[in-house]
Amino acid sequence: MKNILSQRASELKPSATLAISAKEKELKSQGIDVVGFGAGEPDFPTPAHIREAAKASLDRGETFYTPVGGTVELKKAVIRRFDEDYGLKYEPDHILVSCGAKHSLYNIFQAIIGPGDEVLIPAPYWVSYPEMVCLSGGKPVIVPAEEKNNFEPDPKLLESLISPNTKAIIINSPSNPTGIMYSRKLLEELAEIAEGHDLTVISDEIYDKLVYDNLTFTPFASLPGMHKRTVTVNGVSKTYAMTGLRIGYLATPIKEIVKAAGNIQSQSTSNPSNPAQAAAVQALIGPQDEVVRMRNIFENRRNLMTRLINEIDGISVPIPQGAFYTFVNTTALNGRDGIKNSTDFAQLLLDKYHVACVPGGPFGSEDHIRLSFATSDAVIEEGMRRIATACKDLG
Ligand code: PMP
Ligand code: GLU
Repeated sequence: MKNILSQRASELKPSATLAISAKEKELKSQGIDVVGFGAGEPDFPTPAHIREAAKASLDRGETFYTPVGGTVELKKAVIRRFDEDYGLKYEPDHILVSCGAKHSLYNIFQAIIGPGDEVLIPAPYWVSYPEMVCLSGGKPVIVPAEEKNNFEPDPKLLESLISPNTKAIIINSPSNPTGIMYSRKLLEELAEIAEGHDLTVISDEIYDKLVYDNLTFTPFASLPGMHKRTVTVNGVSKTYAMTGLRIGYLATPIKEIVKAAGNIQSQSTSNPSNPAQAAAVQALIGPQDEVVRMRNIFENRRNLMTRLINEIDGISVPIPQGAFYTFVNTTALNGRDGIKNSTDFAQLLLDKYHVACVPGGPFGSEDHIRLSFATSDAVIEEGMRRIATACKDLG
């Protein structure tokens, strides 16, 4: 059969992050001793009170549809967190609950981007942003950012890439894959640009609670004048170790976006899972001490992983301030034993040393690999031993 696929589907790349995690699991199931640094999810069990809430929901018989955009209780819980954490005020019709933050982002792009529309995406970026923009028929406009500038995009360069077709900019701080958190100064400069060019800002704040060194997270919508033009995306996956329960949400006073994204959801997935929403309510309004406990463990692992990486000759890493990723520079290895870029090195690590990590290409950099520290100290230590051996063997 010829041309069975749409052009859209033929051009779409699968998620490289999910592909590596799947590869890792496949090799492990074959009995291969793989060290996995691919994971984009916490390795902790979902806290008990959250699991209990999901079970209680099932026992109450909550196995039916809910309103498409989320239960009243969950919207209230989302509104309460924004208010208590950041003093940000939202109404129920400013919130749309979806099947994960990824789904929220997909709905947003489908709602606001069409053929010819452009979205500014600072690089390195999370693998799914450009693909989602393409799926909506729009054009991703990549704004390169350099490691020597702490992976912060140059506002002047970003502004020079704005065209009459630019509709939105996506910000992800703390960032996947670099773990870098934008400075307040940069956020303010971006706010000024958004205001000056009447752009919508999509702020993916999924790592807002995973911030280290006692730094303070600034939600983009809290910057002067930005509440009205920001669509904030967040979810319970990373903060509460609930990736498999699939609950994310968007919040914005731009009601047309909430309504349009909700209509898209109503014609595609309907509501997110009912018991998962009940679990998310408990996550958001229940005790938050587990969040702090997990965050502290991540911070210690970050310290361990970055120290060990920077001891290895051939690779280096800037210290991430948030999330659970290190974006490791491998350029010093290029030219050694046929290695041309980070993709080659990642492949070598997997094939010969059984270390799984995500090559930087799908994040917009062939100079880096992404290693997740959402894994135990023992795994980090063993993985770093293997990577050190690989670098040594390359000469
Ligand atoms: N945004 C970023 C930057 C992410 O790393 C992820 C990871 N999955 C998501 C959004 C989506 O998370 P989820 O769909 O599990 O809520
Ligand atoms: N966001 C995580 C990652 O980057 C999970 C996988 C995905 O959804 O891409 O690894």
